Amino acid sequence: MLTQIKGLHHVTSIASDAVRNNAFFTDALGLRRVKKTVNFDSPDVYHLYYGDEQGTPGTVMTHFPFARAARGRPGTGEVGETVFAVPQGSLDFWADRLADRAEDLARVDHFGESRLSFRSDDGEAFALSESADDNRDPWTGNGVGADHAIRGFRGATMRLADTGAMAELLTFMGYQKSDTRDGVTRYVIEGGNPADTIDLAQASGVREAQQGAGSVHHIAFAVEDRAAQLAVRRALTDTGHAVTPVIDRDYFWAIYFRTPGGVLFEIATNEPGFDRDEDTAHLGEALKLPSQHEHLRSALEGHLQPLG
Ligand code: ZN
Repeated sequence: MLTQIKGLHHVTSIASDAVRNNAFFTDALGLRRVKKTVNFDSPDVYHLYYGDEQGTPGTVMTHFPFARAARGRPGTGEVGETVFAVPQGSLDFWADRLADRAEDLARVDHFGESRLSFRSDDGEAFALSESADDNRDPWTGNGVGADHAIRGFRGATMRLADTGAMAELLTFMGYQKSDTRDGVTRYVIEGGNPADTIDLAQASGVREAQQGAGSVHHIAFAVEDRAAQLAVRRALTDTGHAVTPVIDRDYFWAIYFRTPGGVLFEIATNEPGFDRDEDTAHLGEALKLPSQHEHLRSALEGHLQPLG
């Protein structure tokens, strides 16, 4: 069993419109945009990162807004819901705030937690989960005060045709089964950041998801540093997973592998972080380009929509 994994690092999804995406995550959800950069493989598409003040691992939601991308079709083999932690007693505030800005708002009880589930304008499924013991400092710079603001991720739910192989993989990664209710099994990892929960929803007889706008592209797990990442890579390779080489993503190092149930996993380092190339006070303001795309700057500045 691995001991290096410390909860979630980030979740990356596909969106259809950069301006709407930016408005939803900053104005509606109150997160801080911590990086405005481009997709390494499609530099004409933004890669937008939203999180707490520093973009601390375990708080970072990221999007690739492909203009006019067709909406994905929910199904099996994907992250079905991404869950943020909010303070106890804050769901009335959120239900009010999101009433006109999100779809399908619903109050639910999930493993004894009060949640507000909703969909973004792209149909992406999220939930806010009341959490009494989350001591993370929230970002309050976008009009949501500390009494209500998102603390970061609580976890995510994966929807799978057969949860068996994923349960085995999560256990290998250091997660422990904690509870099962209504076909959903909860896995929790100790000793990491507060984004420590993965729920596996068994969805037999449900068709496979088709990726598009509103779909999670991949889910990333945190490791402290590159040494820990190499140890995880070795262990995954030794157990038969086809893992990519280490890739420099400027703000972290990444490895990726496709899991048996279809979900794309990434293992990302907590180093070097989002203040690598701009001051914490100004994170997310300037367009930052990977060095190999720097020569495209003037073309990209003309092409990419201004976000404000
Ligand atoms: Zn990633």
